[in-house]
Amino acid sequence: MQPTVVMKFGGTSVADAQKIRRAAARIVAQREAGRRVVAVLSARGHTTDELIAAALEVSAHPDPREMDMLLSTGERISCALCAMAINDLGHRAISLTGSQAGIVTDTSHTRARIIDVRADRIRKALEEDMIVLVAGFQGVSTSRDVTTLGRGGSDTTAVALAAAVSAEVCEIYTDVDGVYSADPRIVPDARKLPVVSFEEMLEMAASGAKVLQLRSVEYARTHGVRIHCRSSFSDATGTVVVGEEETMENPLITAVTHTTEEALITLSGVPDRPGAAAAIFTALAEAGVNVDTIVQNEPKGEGVQAEVSFTLAADDLHAAETALGPVATELGISGIALDEQVGKVSIIGAGMRSHPGVAAKVFQVLAEEEINIEIIHTSPIKITCLIREDAVPAAVLALHTAFGLGGGEQELPIGQQSR
Ligand code: ASP
Ligand code: MG
Repeated sequence: MQPTVVMKFGGTSVADAQKIRRAAARIVAQREAGRRVVAVLSARGHTTDELIAAALEVSAHPDPREMDMLLSTGERISCALCAMAINDLGHRAISLTGSQAGIVTDTSHTRARIIDVRADRIRKALEEDMIVLVAGFQGVSTSRDVTTLGRGGSDTTAVALAAAVSAEVCEIYTDVDGVYSADPRIVPDARKLPVVSFEEMLEMAASGAKVLQLRSVEYARTHGVRIHCRSSFSDATGTVVVGEEETMENPLITAVTHTTEEALITLSGVPDRPGAAAAIFTALAEAGVNVDTIVQNEPKGEGVQAEVSFTLAADDLHAAETALGPVATELGISGIALDEQVGKVSIIGAGMRSHPGVAAKVFQVLAEEEINIEIIHTSPIKITCLIREDAVPAAVLALHTAFGLGGGEQELPIGQQSR
């Protein structure tokens, strides 16, 4: 049987007629090279943003089910147009909605999760020598409504389909040529990374790298789907995301990521007793607010109250504030402070797992830049510092330089230095 490849094209790669034709030509080239092709397309250009704006023009709080009916159209347009272009190149193509493609999700509108992929229709079309185009970012819920998968969700569609049809690779075509050691707009000598492990990519996607939707990386890791992030405008090899056993060596540090799209909430006067944190975070979870770093400070002493801080997406600030009102009253919390002027800078590398001193160096570098660290959060392969938003570019640049991530040699852990 011929190998199968999944090719996903992002919004900028299908933005106009010429780009759609170019994507069609790339798809056809893969087919002619002897591979079966499933292509997943995003909505063209700013279509999704425009659809959201259109909804907000008619309703302050659009009904989530109708929102999904609306948003799912963007990807359908791209797929139908691309199928037409492929047909003109002498191949047979069929476009499918997420629902027709068998992507089954839970019922949480606008942020649904894929729970099953029933790919028999895709398999049959592939067997009939067709190129299959699937509208990204959408599915059908267990109660038969159209759902969408959250911003950037086409990546997850692509990975899920790659797993379902046992594709040899899931190619993500985009307007950048891979995953970089830092945002090249901040760090001019940022390096394209040839290989990144799932674990590193997960941390990177969670801490601000925008190349892949976080869920797509989770899905790829769980199902062992090999991802290749590459440019739709060149043939150059991009970045391959694979299991750690396949990455040749673990550099000490792989990348510096950042985000300024976070906000910080600090609750003061939280009663120091069992159940307080549970009540707070249950209320937030029920409101669908995704909380990131949580810090609880519990000063010692009789009757002293605790302070709880946590970060969240700035977009969720309003929902969080609303959800916290009743719990705050119930628990007698004395203050809720909202702060949008925060940013996060993170340093990621599988090699730091076994090497002490990385954290100390990070703090030293930021100290030399006179950047104050407000919250520190670590995982075995990541160190994140919450700082003022306006200090983020300087922090990213300084860390990238200090850890030698630029164009030249990378810093390897002791023992891997000479090979
Ligand atoms: N069109 C959707 C978005 O803009 C999904 C995607 O492009 O992956 O978020
Ligand atoms: Mg994207």
